[in-house]
Amino acid sequence: MQIGSIERRGHVLTRPALKCLNQVAAINPTLGCIHQCAYCYVRGYTMYPGDGKVFIYDAIVEKLRRELSKRRKLPLYVFFSPTCDVLQPIPQVLKVTYDLMRVLFEHGIGVNLLTKGKIPVNFLPLFQRYKKLVHVQIGITTLCRDIQRRLEPYASTPAERVRNIERLCAIDVVPEIKLDPLIPDVTDTEQNITTLFKALQKYGIRSTGMNYLFLRPQIKKNIGKAFRNTPLLANNILRHYEKGKSINLLAAQSHVFALDMQYRKQAYTYIAECAKASGIYAYVCGCKNPDITEEPLCATTWGQYFEEKFTQKRLFSPKTGTNRSIEL
Ligand code: SF4
Repeated sequence: MQIGSIERRGHVLTRPALKCLNQVAAINPTLGCIHQCAYCYVRGYTMYPGDGKVFIYDAIVEKLRRELSKRRKLPLYVFFSPTCDVLQPIPQVLKVTYDLMRVLFEHGIGVNLLTKGKIPVNFLPLFQRYKKLVHVQIGITTLCRDIQRRLEPYASTPAERVRNIERLCAIDVVPEIKLDPLIPDVTDTEQNITTLFKALQKYGIRSTGMNYLFLRPQIKKNIGKAFRNTPLLANNILRHYEKGKSINLLAAQSHVFALDMQYRKQAYTYIAECAKASGIYAYVCGCKNPDITEEPLCATTWGQYFEEKFTQKRLFSPKTGTNRSIEL
């Protein structure tokens, strides 16, 4: 593992290229991500430093402060993070993430955190103090350690993610679940789905976004590697994509290979029913399934979440919640 620092040119808050996020303020504290998920699209980017290498952007906390002080309008919330997991188990990354979030909270700006990492205990008092400004999404598609280890070798274990959920619920920051990416024959099986929802049922989770794995050449290679000890399963996964289709996910022209639409529709319907039986509302990520639905797009859902929180806040404190915009 190589941990270093790197100069950051340009703004700290940026707009991701993904269609669903291109109106959202986002931040990437690091270049590279230690989790090395087999399905990660970032591992195929030219700027990806390579597996096992993580570079933290120099003075990013001070730069964020400066950037915010110059803005006429502050963003409603900031998304952590399009190209890395900010809770990678690296002390320097965790420290920077904590400091960045604190700066945003102090400015009254919300944080939308999507993570497959273990939430360190020192983050909990911060989240509790600013609970109206926190929206957490826990990426979890299985409780099976063997499957998870193959797909996300250096991310937190399923047990640690359930513990995240438990701890967040204990401070009244009920997270959303991200069933993303589902993998045919691996994580969309009846057993996997029902076991997962049963375990989540007791926490009062309200919603989950779902999406299937899409392929690109690098992802296909990495999925093959992840399942190299079970070649039959690897072949089965890839066989499902033979009837698939190319779709455009990015604002710029960039295509990915998705599962056949009928397969996805049927599976989403089934999973949504299982989720409903556990009191959870499951929705299809429209941004990654534009041929099935355009709603709810992540930015819309998160925007509504923070708008509602601020509206509630305004009911009690008319001085807060002003001068914010989702504009960058
Ligand atoms: S956590 Fe996210 S950014 Fe990191 S390797 Fe996994 S998919 Fe990629």
